[in-house]
Amino acid sequence: MKNTEIFNGDIVKVLLPIASDGYDYIVPEKLSVSVGDFVKVPLRNKEEIGVVFSKNVGPLDYDISKVRPILSKLESYHLSENQIEFIKKVADYNLTFLGNVLKMVMGFDELFSDVRPRKKIVNYIPSYESPILSDEQKNASEILSTKLFKGFSVSLLDGITGSGKTEVYFNVINEVLKNPDAQVLIMLPEISLTGQFLSKFQQRFGIQPVLWHSGITKAQRRDNWKAVINGEAKVIVGTRSSLFLPYNNLQLLVLDEEHDSSYKQEDGVIYQGRDMAVLKASVDKIPIILASATPSIETINNVNLGKYSCVKLTSRFGVAIMPDVELIDMKQNKPPKESWGRAWLSSVLVKQIQEKLENKEQIMLYINRRGYAPLVLCNSCGNRLQCPNCNVYLTAHSKDETICCCHHCGYSMRLPVKCDKCGAENPWALCGPGIERIEEEVKNRFPDAKIETISSDIITSQTRLNEIIRKISDNEVDIIIGTQILVKGHHFPNLTLVGVVDGDMSFSSSDLRANENTFQLLTQVSGRAGRDVKKGKVVIQTYNPENSVMQAIKNNDRDSFVKQELEDRKISLMPPFAKLAGVIISSRKKDLLEKFCYMLKQRMPIGIDGIQFYGPIDSPLSYLKNNYRKRFLIVVDKKIKIQDVIKKWLLNVNIPSWIKLKVDVDPYNFM
Ligand code: ADP
Ligand code: ZN
Repeated sequence: MKNTEIFNGDIVKVLLPIASDGYDYIVPEKLSVSVGDFVKVPLRNKEEIGVVFSKNVGPLDYDISKVRPILSKLESYHLSENQIEFIKKVADYNLTFLGNVLKMVMGFDELFSDVRPRKKIVNYIPSYESPILSDEQKNASEILSTKLFKGFSVSLLDGITGSGKTEVYFNVINEVLKNPDAQVLIMLPEISLTGQFLSKFQQRFGIQPVLWHSGITKAQRRDNWKAVINGEAKVIVGTRSSLFLPYNNLQLLVLDEEHDSSYKQEDGVIYQGRDMAVLKASVDKIPIILASATPSIETINNVNLGKYSCVKLTSRFGVAIMPDVELIDMKQNKPPKESWGRAWLSSVLVKQIQEKLENKEQIMLYINRRGYAPLVLCNSCGNRLQCPNCNVYLTAHSKDETICCCHHCGYSMRLPVKCDKCGAENPWALCGPGIERIEEEVKNRFPDAKIETISSDIITSQTRLNEIIRKISDNEVDIIIGTQILVKGHHFPNLTLVGVVDGDMSFSSSDLRANENTFQLLTQVSGRAGRDVKKGKVVIQTYNPENSVMQAIKNNDRDSFVKQELEDRKISLMPPFAKLAGVIISSRKKDLLEKFCYMLKQRMPIGIDGIQFYGPIDSPLSYLKNNYRKRFLIVVDKKIKIQDVIKKWLLNVNIPSWIKLKVDVDPYNFM
């Protein structure tokens, strides 16, 4: 690193936490700085905190006398070479500005402006109480522990739901913490998971980990960030953004529920948190453990290729066994209309709920749709209520005082008295079921049952959610009705029946991972049933019982599902057999958007082997938050670096201020 040594009078690039790749500053007399230092610099007429990123070794094509000096250096903190390298690689992979990545590393805006004294975080782990592991768990924990302190490795901890993956990696973490300086990061897909997780953590380690997610206060952010960079925080539990914190001595990364699509960040900097976590482990030369009962196809492929190693847990912990799965063909079992209105639960499912209630066991009904009804239709002319800002239909919420909401932009209105197309009065039919409607049906069918409904609309606070989870655990609830928020990670010993109201729902998306998502989701939902001594049962209502995904779920046959899915992807040249990127272009001005896209199309490098360009097409969400949207899709051979293709294509393209252009490398969402 001799040639990057910085002297007074040198010009250096300083990164600021804004959408830019940094600006040049001169190192003044009497200030000694090196790469990774936090410094204060002038920017226009303000002062900003940034990080010295590199020495500018020229040639400089501007007037050096105009370069402004660094003002001062912040002595307490420094980013390591690895951290700088990580910022570079993340920006490069996701085609974003270095400054945008630095912003994530710096955690939040007021990090340095806040001068209140910080609370000292004491996160020293006093003792660890291991449960007695089963032979399989012990074996897994030993194998994973052999990877510690030996450089970069990726291991998949592949264990069925309820097999004790958490306990296994807790044991491995305990091994890491025998080194008093080491830090460990546990990543979870969502905060809603953390309640039960944290009490388990407390029970095993005797203290609470340091948290990082969007729900913590600014003061906690500041304290936790500082505890991470100075090494006081030993175990950090966080969502995807915790990956970017400036760890002092990270020695192990654990990413639980690795298949979960919430690791993919869709706004701001678009990135896949799991893939960036693997990248981070490789830069830091540390092991990473990916845990899941339903690993992603990409990860399974990496195991098959020998890039990742794999440890399996094949049985549930203790006496628990996997639940039986029954598919109900809704073509033959349409529920008749009832006194309160349309019904959605088949008589087969209703009967089983009744039996469980009589046995004092718990039931969970799963429907992943918020609100009361997903569509509001005029009975007289067929007009559907649509969002004025987006081309999506409004969802009706709460039947009595019906409010119609857009789940994309937040627009809402009262149900109008008249149809604005035909003038008919009170013509509205509320079509299809949302979670509130299922709740209505359950209350009508089982008036004596204690019911809790859990969806993100209803549960706005973490404390309220934790309280409901406690009530379920303590058997104060008979029937739980939940959306996605409930299927992950939870462990309710007395829950023995899971009913999936609409098993086909996640097939309907145009996403290339629709099959995979459905398989994962149904497996995870099913995995909530029978996790203790009582055997569980899963009932899935579907119009496609013969579908191969449904059959794989029924037969608990992940291998054949994965095999089929890999074959399909290979034939259609989709990931992991090709690399994809989406380019989304949006504007309030439709004609200018079209012109701009036409210009981009003209510049497409066509006819190159292994590179295919598609588009522009109207995106399925062609109008969103008052913006028109178009998409390009680029598909390349695995050998070709897709980022280079896109850079070359967009090089010298001037993006006018009324156009927004976003690149989505490895897209999940094609909306
Ligand atoms: P998974 O994450 O694989 O679905 P968990 O780690 O949540 O499974 O384990 C399921 C339940 O079984 C948890 O309550 C956990 O504490 C318990 N458990 C797992 N292994 C053991 C063990 N060896 N001793 C005691 N309890 C265990
Ligand atoms: Zn809208």
